[in-house]
Amino acid sequence: MIRWPIFLRQNRKSLAPVLIAGTGAFWLRLFLKLYFVKTAMVAFRHPVMGVKALLRIQSYRRSFEGKRSIMRKFVGAGGKYYFASDSPGFPGPLFREFLRDECRRRGALTEGHGQEYIPVQTVFWGITNRCPLQCTHCYDWDNIDNRDRLGLDQLMEVLAIFRQQGIRHVQLSGGEPMARFDELVKLVQAASPSMECWLLTSAYGFSASRALALKEAGLLGVNISLDHWQQDKHNAFRQNGQSHQWAMQAIDHGRQAGLLVSLSLCVTREMASWENLMAYATLARDRGVHFVRMLEPREVGRFSGMEVLLDAGQVERVSRFVRQMNSGGRFRDFPAMVFFGYHQRTLGCMGAGDRYLYVDANGDMHACPFCRGGMGNLLETPYRDILKKVQERGCHLFARAQPDAIH
Ligand code: SF4
Repeated sequence: MIRWPIFLRQNRKSLAPVLIAGTGAFWLRLFLKLYFVKTAMVAFRHPVMGVKALLRIQSYRRSFEGKRSIMRKFVGAGGKYYFASDSPGFPGPLFREFLRDECRRRGALTEGHGQEYIPVQTVFWGITNRCPLQCTHCYDWDNIDNRDRLGLDQLMEVLAIFRQQGIRHVQLSGGEPMARFDELVKLVQAASPSMECWLLTSAYGFSASRALALKEAGLLGVNISLDHWQQDKHNAFRQNGQSHQWAMQAIDHGRQAGLLVSLSLCVTREMASWENLMAYATLARDRGVHFVRMLEPREVGRFSGMEVLLDAGQVERVSRFVRQMNSGGRFRDFPAMVFFGYHQRTLGCMGAGDRYLYVDANGDMHACPFCRGGMGNLLETPYRDILKKVQERGCHLFARAQPDAIH
């Protein structure tokens, strides 16, 4: 059994998640490598294979990260460590399974295992059609309704399918999932602890007492949409005069409840300047946010038919910004960041049933929240039949990630 250095061991009952960079992150990376080797050795039932798998992953990561790993920040909470908001924390059984899946994906190293079923790393799951907002970019616009199409029993059925299929990480979204709060709590209770649950919210109705109730139900983290550091611009984007204030309060409520807190930013052309990105990151740091996810606008939902895509220079700028933020040094106390557009362009798409997929509030499975097109309904058709179609259809913009890709 791997023993963690004393200064990295956490009080499991401690409420406050902490950002770890610098020396602490160095030791965590080292222990993560040992943990990986041990897990791979067990998975392959051969000691050399564990080391080979590690070297292979390192060499692959260096092909897009350079020699200096970008994994230089972790968030510690409840005795576990997290390097991203879409993968499980380590150490623990969920993370061990996650590593085993990564090993299995490497066909060349796992001769005879290449064609086996591997569960997706995470599912984005819409649990309600309702939403009180009218955001300018809403990707789910065609599904928004004033009543839910699936009842709680049907949602529980969908959840049971996820569990049967070995899925261990779920991101509950909508519509606005807080608009269905009582059932949201029941779903989190039913999913935990065999699945790690995150909530994706606009911050509508995310009060201190609700944050605590969700934490008690087993929620791990909350991902709050914040699309501009300036109050008026965020509110205009969300078409709601209180939206920025809700987001700020939700950050505080989430942290006080002991949840991991992530921000989600749709980087519009206007937002994609270095000054705006820095102001946004500074706000996130000052507010004690742990992760920031940057998404690029896509021509779907309310953005359909509009010229919203970032140009090559903007994509490069956002990518450079995120790399710099994650590099540690003078940015060590800023949140860990990810820009999916960078990985999609360097590694390929990991959605469409590879590392993740999207199931909407009707039970229809899609490649991701932005590549719309339901390929089948989980309450009518077996999961793996739909998954096969989603994988064959693939991402609408990017090539599929190669088997060697690791997020
Ligand atoms: S983006 Fe989310 S919060 Fe905004 S209208 Fe759409 S579902 Fe509601």
